[in-house]
Amino acid sequence: MLNSYLNRYFSQTIVDRILEKKNVINKEDIITLLSTKNPSKKNKIFNEACRIKEKYVSNKIYLRGLIEFSNICQKNCLYCGIRSGNKSIYRYELSDKEIIKLAIIAWQNKYGSIIIQSGERSDKYFIYRIDRLLKEIKKNTNYEIGITLCCGEQTEETYRRWFESGAHRYLLRIETSNKNLYNKIHPNDEVHSYNRRIKALSNIKKTGYQTGTGVMIGLPFQTLNDLANDLLFIKEFDIDMVGMGPYIEHKNTPLFKYKRLLMSNEERFNLTLLMIAILRIIMKDINIAATTALQTINIIGREKGIKAGANVIMPNITPTKYRNRYLLYDNKPYLDENNSKYKNYLYTQIETNGNGIAYGEWGDPKHYFNRIELQL
Ligand code: SAH
Ligand code: SF4
Repeated sequence: MLNSYLNRYFSQTIVDRILEKKNVINKEDIITLLSTKNPSKKNKIFNEACRIKEKYVSNKIYLRGLIEFSNICQKNCLYCGIRSGNKSIYRYELSDKEIIKLAIIAWQNKYGSIIIQSGERSDKYFIYRIDRLLKEIKKNTNYEIGITLCCGEQTEETYRRWFESGAHRYLLRIETSNKNLYNKIHPNDEVHSYNRRIKALSNIKKTGYQTGTGVMIGLPFQTLNDLANDLLFIKEFDIDMVGMGPYIEHKNTPLFKYKRLLMSNEERFNLTLLMIAILRIIMKDINIAATTALQTINIIGREKGIKAGANVIMPNITPTKYRNRYLLYDNKPYLDENNSKYKNYLYTQIETNGNGIAYGEWGDPKHYFNRIELQL
């Protein structure tokens, strides 16, 4: 008995042993998993993440039609291509008519949900406009389309107003859980404060939204210890949905000067896949998106994200004429994801990998209902 135990112990790699620990994976374990370079060991981690995905949330891939409705932003994050300080881009806003039309297209194409994303603004015109749009979108889609908002930090009152008007998910990335690093990649003032970000995320959750966050992976000065803490932050905060992607430099931003400190694109890509897989292992029933930034580094990046444990993709349905103005980072793809040839290609890729597209379903994160039930 002891012999067979010892044999098994010594034939296992450290990755095997960590994966067997299941619910008690700690920070050191996460760092070890994040350091995995060997392809067959990495595959073990991805396979375990996919096994968990299948068991706890199924193999369905949920679609969110992404509408980048305006690049006007009052903030100045040091990494972002549409920061207010970048004077070399044209600012745009889609009209109400355009946005409602896109929502109807998403609904007719059975996307299930849309994400409305923009730069951050806190003026009344913006707040009331979103409010009006939410109601109009619901009305024009027979109250069937799910709506996620990703419009930055707002007051508790605004979050409540938008929730009552029809948004039921909100995505606000914390970007990094390391406060010092957060301060390094943002201007040093009150509107760009880490505490304000965390407070906003708490208010989103308190309002009743399915709450989403995420981080950038491969930022200058970021360590594996930081990334492990990011995953633990997400778990501790009991987040329902996560969108994490590689940091990709943009040449018209202050952070670009640290380009020489960055990992290669391939390393950032691989690290992102490992972050997705480990997150799936430690938070089984949440929704995890395979993001556009993954696709920027590798044309089939999102498919690889799904194979690492993600279960959501966000096809960009913003009209192509606006795409070159919503460049958060360099080389962001321009693909028209409403183009049926491309759509068929993407969906076939996903389906041949044993996952099925969930057409016409909201695809709410199971975690949200599980945590609400626990609170009752
Ligand atoms: N203004 C809103 C939403 C739009 S920005 C907000 O900031 O929450 C959406 C996300 O894009 C940000 O949270 C950030 O994580 C990501 N992003 C911005 N610049 C990026 C870059 N250079 N590389 C990778 N992701 C970036
Ligand atoms: Fe604005 Fe968001 Fe970019 Fe920051 S990350 S500059 S808030 S669009």
